[in-house]
Amino acid sequence: MARVISDECIACGTCQATCPVGAISEGDKYSIDPETCIDCGACEAACPAQAISAG
Ligand code: SF4
Repeated sequence: MARVISDECIACGTCQATCPVGAISEGDKYSIDPETCIDCGACEAACPAQAISAG
């Protein structure tokens, strides 16, 4: 199961640097590639907008 980024995303980019497998892509809202995510939770802990949750 991969984490997902909700509409609460403010596109700050904080999560992208925390991902150990490079699963997070930039955009108007950031997104997580479910094929790459290992569900470690690092990004969820780092998100200042609480936009990341278990998918
Ligand atoms: Fe990357 Fe871990 Fe977040 Fe998945 S849960 S996107 S592997 S930091």
